[in-house]
Amino acid sequence: MKIFLYFIITVISLQAQSFRLNRPVKDNVETNGSYLFGEPRYQDPQNAHRGIDILIRWDTVKSASAGMVHFVGYNPNDTIGGYEPNGAGNYVVIKSQWQSRWIFIYYMHLQKPLVNVNDLVLTGQPIAISGNTGRSTGAHLHFEIRLDYPQSTSRRTKNPELWCAITGMGAIYGRVPNAPNSTRVDIFPDPKPRPPYTTFSYALTYNFNDPYIGSDETYNENYAIGDVKPGTYTIRSLNGAYLRTVSVGAGQVVNADGSVSVPFDLEIPSDFSLEQNYPNPFNSTTVISFKLQEYGYVQLKVYDLLGREVATILDEEKPAGEFHQFFDANDLSSGIYIYQISVTTSSGKNFIQSKKMTLIK
Ligand SMILES: [Zn+2]
Repeated sequence: MKIFLYFIITVISLQAQSFRLNRPVKDNVETNGSYLFGEPRYQDPQNAHRGIDILIRWDTVKSASAGMVHFVGYNPNDTIGGYEPNGAGNYVVIKSQWQSRWIFIYYMHLQKPLVNVNDLVLTGQPIAISGNTGRSTGAHLHFEIRLDYPQSTSRRTKNPELWCAITGMGAIYGRVPNAPNSTRVDIFPDPKPRPPYTTFSYALTYNFNDPYIGSDETYNENYAIGDVKPGTYTIRSLNGAYLRTVSVGAGQVVNADGSVSVPFDLEIPSDFSLEQNYPNPFNSTTVISFKLQEYGYVQLKVYDLLGREVATILDEEKPAGEFHQFFDANDLSSGIYIYQISVTTSSGKNFIQSKKMTLIK
C-alpha cells in the first residue's frame, strides 16, 4: 500500500513566505554581495559558492536555530589554517529540524568554537567566535545550509538568503526561464541597507554546474536577492526579456514571478521494502531498488553463499523515498549471491531483508 499526498501550493506575492531561521550574527551586518550563493567559485569556477559570506570580524556567531552540535572541527595549534587548512578552517555544524526534516547548518572559518559535540543549543546562543581560518581571504563567517543529511550531494545545499535576514529586511526570488548559469539579474532601485559592506546589488542565476547546490523545494528559484529593504522593485534580466515588478515587506520572502501554482506529488512509502534486482540473472551490472519509509542509516551489502561479504554498495544516511542503486559485479565470478539491506531509522526502527541474485558471465 502506498500513501499519496497531493498538494497544490499557491504562492502569490501578497501571501509571502517568512524566514525559517534567525540571523546568526549581530543585526547590522550584511551578506557579502560580491560573492553570492551559487556564484562560480573563485578558485574553481566549475563549482559554486555553497553558502553566503557575512562580513563579521572576530565577533560572536550565534546559532540560527535550536539544535544539537553535530560536529566541531577545531585545531587550536594552527591559528591560520585551523582544522581544515584548505577549506572550512575551524568550523561547527549544528543539526536542527525544519518541517520534520533534518537540516545541517555549517559555520565556517571560525577563530574558536564555544560548544562541544552533542551540546544542545538554543536559537541565538553564542556558538563560536568568527575568524579567518582555512581557505579564506579575509575575516568572515561562511554560513551554509544542507537539507536532510550532512553529505550534501543531490542539490541539497540551499540559499541561506531565503532562510534568514537582517531584522526588518525581506528577500526576493524568482526563476529566469532558459537563463544560462550566472546570468545577471538586476534590481532597481538599490535594495540594500548601507553602508558599509555591500558595494553593489544584483543577483546571478545559480551555477548549476555544481551538483551540490540546488533550488529551494518550495520556491524553485534560480536566483535570489537577500537583505532587501521593504519597497517596490523592478527586476530585469536577459536585456529586458525578463522584467518583473515586486513589492516586499519586512520579514517576507517574495516570489518575483507573481502568482504561480506549484503542484507536486509527494509519495512517501508506507513501509520499507527491498525489490528483486533487475535484470536478474545478469552478466555484469544490475540495479537494486528499495524504499524507505523514514530517514535512516542504510547499509546495502552483497554476500556469497558462504556468508562472506563481497561488496558494500551503500553505507550512508538516506531520506525517506524510493532508491535505485547500481551494482557492478565485474570483480565477482559467476554464481548466486545474496544482497541484504539493513536500515536503522532515527526513530529507532530496524529493518533487514535479503534477496538472491544470479551472476552469469
Ligand atoms: Zn563562503
